[in-house]
Amino acid sequence: MPAKDPISTVDPEIWPFMQAEVRRQQNTLELIASENHVSAAVLEALGTVFTNKYAEGYPGKRYYAGCANMDAVEELARQRVKKLFGCDHVNVQPHSGASANIAVYLAALQPGETILSLDLAHGGHLSHGLKVNVSGLLYNIVPYGVDPRTEQFNYDHIRELAREHKPKLVISGASAYPRTIDFDRFSEIAHEVGATHMADIAHIAGLVAVGLHPSPISSSDFVTTTTHKTLRGPRGGLIMCKEAWAKKIDSRVFPGSQGGPLMHCIASKAVAFAEALKPEFKTYQQQILANAQALAEALQSKGNRLVSGGTDNHLMLVDLRPAYPQVSGRMAEGWLEASNIIVNKNMIPFDERKPVETSGLRIGTPALTTRGLKEAHMRTIADLIDRVLRAEGDPKVIESVRGSVAELCEQFPL
Ligand SMILES: *Cc1c(COP(=O)(O)O)cnc(C)c1O
Repeated sequence: MPAKDPISTVDPEIWPFMQAEVRRQQNTLELIASENHVSAAVLEALGTVFTNKYAEGYPGKRYYAGCANMDAVEELARQRVKKLFGCDHVNVQPHSGASANIAVYLAALQPGETILSLDLAHGGHLSHGLKVNVSGLLYNIVPYGVDPRTEQFNYDHIRELAREHKPKLVISGASAYPRTIDFDRFSEIAHEVGATHMADIAHIAGLVAVGLHPSPISSSDFVTTTTHKTLRGPRGGLIMCKEAWAKKIDSRVFPGSQGGPLMHCIASKAVAFAEALKPEFKTYQQQILANAQALAEALQSKGNRLVSGGTDNHLMLVDLRPAYPQVSGRMAEGWLEASNIIVNKNMIPFDERKPVETSGLRIGTPALTTRGLKEAHMRTIADLIDRVLRAEGDPKVIESVRGSVAELCEQFPL
């Protein structure tokens, strides 16, 4: 039998970091748009004996004996996704969002074929065609960007690119795009040139699930997502598709690009999907949006420029240049971290600074909304952020802001 002792006794070297991380999450304001705090039930599922089991294959068709409980859990996870998103078919095995995307590429493309996808520097994701990612190594990438004037998608321009380059796959979806995405228009553009359309809803899956962002399910060929962002599940990915693609997609996940599924993660995903099917989850998503609106308006009222002039979803991109010309994204991220406000530096469209420096900050509300913060707290946080940036990291200001952050964090325990 494995040791019954707690981690603190079995591994006293690791334990202090685990405790420290709990304290860090408790004592900081988490505004990274891709992060969240999972429920105790989702967390508990991750720590179950499902991690012990090999379950290569799919429910009813496993390569190992003893998979009855695995089958039941994976089947439940699938059924819940179908209810949540209304898709024909789902594969819940991808280890991550990036893994989900790789499986779609293997299903939809031959090496060397062309993908039309959003430029990383305009809010795209590395798994959509970064040169040193498998997407950029195996496929010919044609990037589209946002319109220089509106900083939003110009669908006519994307259509022109599609007609000119004849991609086999068009990808929509982003990591740093604050506006509603017209997925149906992307499907139309793809299908007009004989391509398939993959919508990657990694960031906005929670909003899509409750109908607060248009769903790509009916028009697109593939929908991929992570499960750990607005969806508030464990780290992982999933793929939804039409029945016609089901067999191909499943075979490209396993054995195409993965071995045994992480069954403890799949069990935890199932718990998260059950949570997402409850009415409270819609209320939570509505509050994410209300908080994002409040934060965006408060930041703007202090003279901050937001890329595209605002937000329709859970995140915003602050262009630091007009309000704080001397401050780069890297500097701002560092000073805010010292103040216990956690955000990430981000390229803004047409950024003159390098990716390690950047002129922007990406700020999102999913994690703080989980903690229970509301609009009034967002206005306080905008004020704290503005004070740190205006003072250009003055240690006295950082010290004072840390105090205000501590008060807020104490009010909202994890
Ligand atoms: C976060 C994200 C992913 C990848 O997620 P990982 O689980 O980190 O691999 C994929 N696509 C988009 C658009 C994302 O924002």
